[in-house]
Amino acid sequence: MSKNQDKYRCEVCGYEYDPAIGDPENDIEPGTAFEDLPDDWLCPLCHVGKERFVNIGVE
Ligand SMILES: [Zn+2]
Repeated sequence: MSKNQDKYRCEVCGYEYDPAIGDPENDIEPGTAFEDLPDDWLCPLCHVGKERFVNIGVE
């Protein structure tokens, strides 16, 4: 079973979370699926929670 590589976009600021890149500034390693992010992970740009992100699929 392959990991979910869907990208998610912050609906507030437009930041896109890409699982292939992760979020190095917050110690999220490349390859981390969005649903595997900690529940307290916040948008690195505008600091809203995961519930404000929408699935935009794999490009
Ligand atoms: Zn944001």
